[in-house]
Amino acid sequence: MYTIKQPDQIIFGMNSSKKFTFPKNSLVITSSGTKSRGWLNYLNIKNYEIFDLVEPNPSMETVEKILSKYNQTFSSVIGLGGGSSLDVAKFVSNKLKIKKILIPTTFGSGSEVTKISVLQIDGKKTSFHNDNLLADVSIIDPYFIKNAPFEIIKNSAIDACAQCTEAYDSKLANPYTKFLCRKAFNILESALLNKKYEELAYGAMISGLGFGNSSTTLGHALSYVFSNEGVSHGHALAFTTTAAHKFNNSEFYERFKLLVKKLNFKPIKLDQDFNEATKIIQLDRKHLDYNPKNVSKKDIMNLLSIINT
Ligand SMILES: [Zn+2]
Repeated sequence: MYTIKQPDQIIFGMNSSKKFTFPKNSLVITSSGTKSRGWLNYLNIKNYEIFDLVEPNPSMETVEKILSKYNQTFSSVIGLGGGSSLDVAKFVSNKLKIKKILIPTTFGSGSEVTKISVLQIDGKKTSFHNDNLLADVSIIDPYFIKNAPFEIIKNSAIDACAQCTEAYDSKLANPYTKFLCRKAFNILESALLNKKYEELAYGAMISGLGFGNSSTTLGHALSYVFSNEGVSHGHALAFTTTAAHKFNNSEFYERFKLLVKKLNFKPIKLDQDFNEATKIIQLDRKHLDYNPKNVSKKDIMNLLSIINT
């Protein structure tokens, strides 16, 4: 038996967020670049408060700060930005028990269509999985990719590619998620190879619907020790997911590796002692338990040394 969960409403297409009628008296949650980029004018939101101090890799303190800052009653939360802004918006709206409207401006985390929110607790990335974190309305507008720096585009895109390919192989996969994940990778790969970056928005959305209803696996599990040393999520996955795909004999191994090469990711290195890193990775049961193959301590040590060369 399988169950699929997704936002009540998914709206997508060029300028879809501009055409949307936003509810009055909303709280916009976003990061500091939003105003200067003119995104609020583009969206045409009326009567709103704004919190635009969401940091990269946000912490639970940011959620608490927002909750204590405002004492008026809002009609809804509008999350606008990359995965960080959306994850904070999801958490805040769930606490306030009000509607959440999510608008991604980078396309990779899939947060706008998943029930997952990742926040730092005591300096460690912690992922929360809860049906209440699903958006009421998710608006995917490729407009936002237009002026995005290529570094952001490639890091987001490789995350989406890692998510859908890991999820395709996941033990939690089902015929529906496999259908979505394969479709997502085909779209993302073609968008990257043909430099049609607007199509990444659609590919990342399909990837989010696929992996959000199954799970990412070994590639993601291996990535966090690198992220803890400051390597960005996508950059880490470029190498950890490649190594994981080889280990798992994934049918996507060659195609994923080719994308990493085309996007010109610089090799990554782990400074931390491998033994210590392996201990941390082994605790990540959310990812490892759904990996198609069992992963031993020795396997993780081997994978880390492959990634580090
Ligand atoms: Zn990811």
